[in-house]
Amino acid sequence: MIKLASRISQIPTSLTLALPPKAKAMLADGLDVSVFRAGQPDFDTPVHIKEAAKQALDEGKTKYGPPAGLPPLREAIANKLQQDNGLSYSPDDVVVTNGGKQSLYNLMQVLLEPGDEVIIPAPYWLSYPEMVKLAEGVPVIIPTYKDTGYRLTPEQLRQAITPRTRLLILNSPSNPTGIVYTPEEIRAIAKVIIESDILVVSDEIYEKILYDGAQHLSIGATSSEAFERTITVNGFAKTYAMTGWRVGYLAGPRKIVNAVKTLQAHSTSNVCTFAQYGAIAALQHSQDCVEQMRQAFAERRHLLLDALDAIPGLSYPQPGGAFYVFIDISKSGLNSEEFCDRLLESQQVAAVPGVAFGADDHIRLSYATDMETIRKGLIRLTKFVETVALSNQLLV
Ligand code: PLP
Repeated sequence: MIKLASRISQIPTSLTLALPPKAKAMLADGLDVSVFRAGQPDFDTPVHIKEAAKQALDEGKTKYGPPAGLPPLREAIANKLQQDNGLSYSPDDVVVTNGGKQSLYNLMQVLLEPGDEVIIPAPYWLSYPEMVKLAEGVPVIIPTYKDTGYRLTPEQLRQAITPRTRLLILNSPSNPTGIVYTPEEIRAIAKVIIESDILVVSDEIYEKILYDGAQHLSIGATSSEAFERTITVNGFAKTYAMTGWRVGYLAGPRKIVNAVKTLQAHSTSNVCTFAQYGAIAALQHSQDCVEQMRQAFAERRHLLLDALDAIPGLSYPQPGGAFYVFIDISKSGLNSEEFCDRLLESQQVAAVPGVAFGADDHIRLSYATDMETIRKGLIRLTKFVETVALSNQLLV
């Protein structure tokens, strides 16, 4: 009889990484499913990035490298953090990881003792609580609401802090809501972090995908006291359409960074060497490709939000960033899984239930998909909502 460690037995599989079996079966049967589940840009990686990786391969850059990442990449990241974010890290304060995900995982491993508390505002990216649990920490979920724009308020943060609190995970722009904290809101959160002397992990993976003048401010850039308490996490996946390359990074206080280097040296070693050369090219070449993809997302977002605005009974926080819209379905009388199951079965539209993000009265649609899928999918969603409205009189 095989017995698994309890640390993994209590962790559910990731609801967003794969299509649900029913949607897969529908696609296999040749059905036309409108898929709004992607957590990744649908664009190909820009050519110059691919060329740099190909060249690295041809030049034999296929050996082990330093576990913390190639020095020229760490230097390019330190420069980027200085120029774009106003964060003064030396290359030695940077670790290159297998995506932003491994940065976050590593941080929980090196920072948490059993029972340490980590404050996570909900709706949250679904892996945060599981990573905390895998490190034997305790996720302290703080719900956020429509009236505060789905943002954690400084008062909520203050109230949640106990002697066991180690850190806050802050994610702006947010997955799943797309909300972006304003610079003032970031400063107000930073103030509480400093007063209470806790750490903040700032997940800035969507920082370049912004709309309607939304401004991204790195919490570590708000003051030297905040900087000392911040670990900045970012990556190449979303900005450069490089999800499969698995290159991300963290930067923070030297003591934490050194601990992550040690952990990485005994777990994964370096990120794929030639992928790191692609990442260097991503940072060193023109950033036009980033703006082109952002503009494409902006057009899709426009189409999607306009169509949603015409559906009675649904509401959502205005997404200032990322490529998601998080729709409040509470008036349907259905929970998020029922809503998504029925939507898939009756209209062949695949969305992600909000329960995965700690909000069971919401669903997440991703607009990292083409305009035709958005057009067709929204017609179907409208029909679905009309049927639900007719059957339970709740939405109208
Ligand atoms: N953080 C957030 C909020 C995300 O949505 C994701 C991916 O979906 C990640 C981190 C991890 O990204 P990656 O590991 O691909 O760099």
